[in-house]
Amino acid sequence: MNHKLNIVEKAASFEVQKIREDFPILKQLVRGKTLCYIDNAATTQKPMVVLNAIDNYYKSKNSNIHRGVHFLSEAATASFEAARTKVKEFINAKSENEIIFTRGTTESINLVAYSFGRNNLNEGDEIIISTMEHHSNIVPWQLIAAEKKAHLKIIPINDKGELILEEFEKIISERTKLVSIVYVSNSLGTINPVEEIISKAHAYGIPVLLDAAQAVYHLPIDVQKLDCDFLAFSGHKIYGPTGIGILYGKETLLEKMPPFMGGGDMISKVTFEKTTYNSLPYKFEAGTSNICGGIGLGTALDYVSSIGFENIIPHENDLLNYATNELKLINGLRIIGEADKKAGVISFVFNNIHPHDVGTFLDFEGVAIRTGHHCTQPVMDRFNIAATCRASFAMYNTKEEIDILVNALKNVTEVFK
Ligand code: PLP
Repeated sequence: MNHKLNIVEKAASFEVQKIREDFPILKQLVRGKTLCYIDNAATTQKPMVVLNAIDNYYKSKNSNIHRGVHFLSEAATASFEAARTKVKEFINAKSENEIIFTRGTTESINLVAYSFGRNNLNEGDEIIISTMEHHSNIVPWQLIAAEKKAHLKIIPINDKGELILEEFEKIISERTKLVSIVYVSNSLGTINPVEEIISKAHAYGIPVLLDAAQAVYHLPIDVQKLDCDFLAFSGHKIYGPTGIGILYGKETLLEKMPPFMGGGDMISKVTFEKTTYNSLPYKFEAGTSNICGGIGLGTALDYVSSIGFENIIPHENDLLNYATNELKLINGLRIIGEADKKAGVISFVFNNIHPHDVGTFLDFEGVAIRTGHHCTQPVMDRFNIAATCRASFAMYNTKEEIDILVNALKNVTEVFK
């Protein structure tokens, strides 16, 4: 009862204009127009608390971590490790040992491909991914598959942009060594039924990696509830800095995996005869970490928690529904990706106007969208198109911004008539 009250109070206190105040970049004019930033799937903007945390770190704590005995080093270490605890709590991992700081989703997936892949793949083994993966969840698997003479199997998607799960059931077998799947598609917006995929894979004893690059800022993530074995995300997609990301892995799996990179911090003892490795999570954090990035990410997670997904989800769903309905009314516009469950992303094309022309035209109106293949070329091939225009929403977007987008698109169709 109390919990419910809390949610109602919080919901009432979600005022998008107040949230926008936290993001200084949103106040600027672009080409003389108010900035309408709807390219959040590429990266999100940063709230003042994150900018202050970065500023404060370099002004008062900058030092190298873990090895120092002096005051600043201890302060930097404490802040960096506190950030690790924040990540652990944010995704409900069991232990800090399961939280590895990386440069981002791409590095996290490569870590699993090289470390887990090298250790577990043999000739003829298979890795399952899907048609809607970002290139960073395709290419690392191609590289390791080529090295180990293993093969990729692909879950296809239907015309709505949803995974065809019956096909997944046909390709999974005792040869499968890992399933690596995107949670929320960055080019279609589809939210995949990851719980179902995980339980089907686990029935064969196969671990599952979730690419949560997009999911992390749209949906609450509970790795214990999901029971995923690995999960990757980037700080910059969840209102944190670039150059920092997370690999979550179950401790039992990480323990068995060899280091991904060698260098300082990841060792226990080095001699020319033999090197022994540091314990988790440091075994996978060779060299000086992005200390400030980790601290900034921790602050970003605090910020998101203070707003609450119970507020973010209804607001973003409202935006998505409103935008979808409005865009459908525009002549010649076709939406790519109409899954029943979607988050934050609308991809669209026009019959006779190239997406890059649309993007350039919108830019003159101060509207920032993304055009291209969005690092998902197999999705473009599936829909027989070269590129899409993509509008993607975050918690600070408004219906007024969607109106600006829609009006600008109507002008585009007039100009190109
Ligand atoms: N996976 C998905 C679904 C993404 O959207 C992205 C980035 O757009 C990535 C992976 C790669 O993220 P990063 O470039 O931060 O490593």
